[in-house]
Amino acid sequence: MDHWDVIVAGAGQAGCAAAWDLAAGGARVLLIHTGEGREKPCAGGLTIKALRRYRFALDSVIRETVSTLNLPGPGGDTRIAVGEPFCVMTHRRELDALCRERAGERGADWTQANGVRAVRQSAAGVVLELRDGRRYRAAYLIAADGAHSPLRRLLQGSQAGAGALALEAHVPRERLRHYPPMTLDFGAIRQGYGWLFPKGDHVNVGLYVWRRERARPTLQALRDYARRSLGCDRLDDVGGYPLGTWLTRRAPLCGRVLFVGDAAGATEALLGEGIYGALVSGQLAASAILAGRAQDYPLLLARWRDELRQVERLTQVFYRSAPVGCMLLRHGLAPTLLRGYARGWTLGQTKRAWRGATPGGAPRDPDGGPFHDLDHGKPGG
Ligand SMILES: Cc1cc2nc3c(=O)[nH]c(=O)nc-3n(C[C@H](O)[C@H](O)[C@H](O)COP(=O)(O)OP(=O)(O)OC[C@H]3O[C@@H](n4cnc5c(N)ncnc54)[C@H](O)[C@@H]3O)c2cc1C
Repeated sequence: MDHWDVIVAGAGQAGCAAAWDLAAGGARVLLIHTGEGREKPCAGGLTIKALRRYRFALDSVIRETVSTLNLPGPGGDTRIAVGEPFCVMTHRRELDALCRERAGERGADWTQANGVRAVRQSAAGVVLELRDGRRYRAAYLIAADGAHSPLRRLLQGSQAGAGALALEAHVPRERLRHYPPMTLDFGAIRQGYGWLFPKGDHVNVGLYVWRRERARPTLQALRDYARRSLGCDRLDDVGGYPLGTWLTRRAPLCGRVLFVGDAAGATEALLGEGIYGALVSGQLAASAILAGRAQDYPLLLARWRDELRQVERLTQVFYRSAPVGCMLLRHGLAPTLLRGYARGWTLGQTKRAWRGATPGGAPRDPDGGPFHDLDHGKPGG
């Protein structure tokens, strides 16, 4: 049986972020990857705060840099240009491949596997048995296996519970009536929104709902939205997936197993932005292990959990009265939000900056500290 310091199960954004930092910190890491052709659906939009958390340049996978947002509404489209980028567009398959490659270059080993059969924990460590019979031992296991988290099911016997859901598809550029700007359409579906993310050779079109027990995007609803917004309902690469939004209700640590990313529920509920939470939690899990204090991981994550709690309250209010929320967005709130995003702030930081704005309009430091102090040590960073 192979021995490792840390096994990271899942080579998505959370897993790769954890593996990179652990390898940079000198740990022997095994990253378990389910293989090409099984990429999970994701629109690949990265806000500036997410972009800043990568330990390496993403230039080779950035397909568009966005500084204008389109908000459709009853009176037509409202285009908000903030004059500086607040988001970049990547293709998730390309982004994951780059992150895996960088983690490998930094020293993480990896192996391909088709699933996990069993996990056993003891005071000495964790034994992971794969479906094909291979067994690995490590001091710690990082569960970065996404919103379905087979590891959570094995360890806790249940799925984490209701959360958000999104459905997406690609429309090749040649099929389009027009190439749209980045668009968020809060009238497209109840309890959520529709999106158009321009990616150069195609547009990613999707529907998001923040509570799937209250509203469910269907393939027909996605087709209808694509026809209305793009003039085309022939969709490629259709896929749907839950998003983990339960960090406020579930512990991210179970003995020697640290849950990160969607497996931890680290996605924010308002827009379903999950890559930032995946990076933050993956990096904090690595940092706790490298410091020899894995038990402190929930403490390190507490600020992000508090932020998610605030965003969840905002989400409830926003989608309960979506038409009013949209009107406010279209008439004044959106530029403030986007400027916050452009500065690399979280939603909560933007809200606090807005509330604490000086009479001259300049936002005070929203946290009374550096904006990126969710970071606790950047190995090699
Ligand atoms: C349709 C859609 C669009 C989205 N768009 C955006 C967006 O534009 N921007 C944004 O910030 N967020 C977006 N999100 C959310 C974002 O995709 C997730 O929050 C983020 O991917 C979470 O990263 P993760 O690494 O935790 O999990 P995942 O990305 O789900 O990665 C988990 C990985 O683990 C693998 N795996 C599963 N089981 C095992 C196992 N037993 N062993 C080993 N590996 C395993 C999976 O194959 C996968 O590769 C979107 C989500 C959806 C569903």
